[in-house]
Amino acid sequence: MSLEVSRWTIDDVHEALRSRRATAQEICAATFARIAQENPKNNALLTLTEDRAMARAKEIDGQVAAGHPLLPLAGVPIAVKDVILTEGVRTTCASKILGNFTAPYSATAVERIEAAGALVVGKANCDEFAMGSSNENSAFGPVRNPHDPERVPGGSSGGSAAAVAAGMCVAALGSDTGGSIRQPASFCGVVGVLPTYGRVSRYGLVAYASSLDHIGPFARSVKDSATVLAVIAGRDPLDSTSVAVPVPDYVAELNKPVKGFKVGVPREYFAAGISPEVRARVESGLAVLRELGCETVDITLPHTEYAIACYYIIATAEASANLARYDGVRYGYRAPEVASLSELYRRTRDQGFGTEVKRRIMLGTYVLSAGYYDAYYRKAQKVRTLVARDFDRAFETVDAIATPVAPTPAFRIGEKTADPLEMYLSDIYTITGNLAGIPGISVPCGSVPVPASNGSSEARNLPVGLQLLTRHFDEARLFRLAHQFEKARGQE
Ligand code: GLN
Repeated sequence: MSLEVSRWTIDDVHEALRSRRATAQEICAATFARIAQENPKNNALLTLTEDRAMARAKEIDGQVAAGHPLLPLAGVPIAVKDVILTEGVRTTCASKILGNFTAPYSATAVERIEAAGALVVGKANCDEFAMGSSNENSAFGPVRNPHDPERVPGGSSGGSAAAVAAGMCVAALGSDTGGSIRQPASFCGVVGVLPTYGRVSRYGLVAYASSLDHIGPFARSVKDSATVLAVIAGRDPLDSTSVAVPVPDYVAELNKPVKGFKVGVPREYFAAGISPEVRARVESGLAVLRELGCETVDITLPHTEYAIACYYIIATAEASANLARYDGVRYGYRAPEVASLSELYRRTRDQGFGTEVKRRIMLGTYVLSAGYYDAYYRKAQKVRTLVARDFDRAFETVDAIATPVAPTPAFRIGEKTADPLEMYLSDIYTITGNLAGIPGISVPCGSVPVPASNGSSEARNLPVGLQLLTRHFDEARLFRLAHQFEKARGQE
């Protein structure tokens, strides 16, 4: 009898292990059967790590047989975005330049989930070096949204989100520099968490824009995302920007009352550009928060309109520095048949990087160059401070902020690829959280029906997420609010 694991949560895995209804090895095998069925359709995973997962499952079964208490992620299948290093496993960043790169060590987040009993099932597709909002910038082909194969899963962590949505794993790790966890979570109808900057070690996360990069979880429930974050959070001596703030027991706090919470609704996030369907879903989400006893209040985050420009200056500046290391000498791809060192650099980078990565390296180099540094980079840093202050001010009067995650549901593959600016605009509601370093979550908030169209023969329901944001290191409140929202709203 094969197990139907595709909708399982962590509690389901643990219940099966405890009751001896299934072994971790059986759960692992059932997961890989599901992956074999789904991956050819959605291209969510670039590398499968079945042997590694099975070996860990065997150890877990040994622990269960010996009567040991279950580790927090015992037997839980987890996919890892391919910008996060996994020792001994190919880690490509969805780039040709790292197409043959095997990671020499594991990221701290990966070490922590494996130590907590997780079965790492594979490496998830994404936009090249996490640069993108649709997963169309992968050198290994786009990911298809499990809710509609003609549409994008969002990006850049599109493979992680799609893998969770398609039941190929129970949870996944992604990275979020400007929305890359929350936006694909919204597009794929799963939960995605941006932890506070410094909450989770970035050691072993391939750097895109270091001051904005975060590792965070995807899951099918808020509770599962809280369980995974509790495992990966906390100070790591290998990342000097990780902070020694104690990690509360998030799950224990999920059911504490939220009645009386003041939830700010920033008016700038409902201005022109938001689709009427998304607005309607988010407004009904706000009504659910009110039913829970929260008070929703109108607030202003006045510098929101400058956030996209600010982000695309800072992120590209940092990317241009971080990606200088791919030179054909130290890592990955090396262009053949070159006559000189400078030609080696040029050819390797020309052949190894995709168009979007090149565009960002050029933009970033430009804004950092001597004549333009003050006009662009320094100015952007000042604007970043203003954006962060908007949030500080808002949190003087509210406990949380609720917003849409993206202006539209998942768009069609190819719809925005010709116009990078149009693509960048879809990050408008998520990049502010990264600029401020505060935590955020995308939690499912209904769906939008779309009629059958060319290419897709069936009418579809496209998920929409609600974004909640809280003060620095206040993930406990974020989870609590999101969990009770999820329960009150019910499943569709
Ligand atoms: N879509 C944004 C970008 O293209 C965010 C990416 C991310 O969060 N990694 O930069």
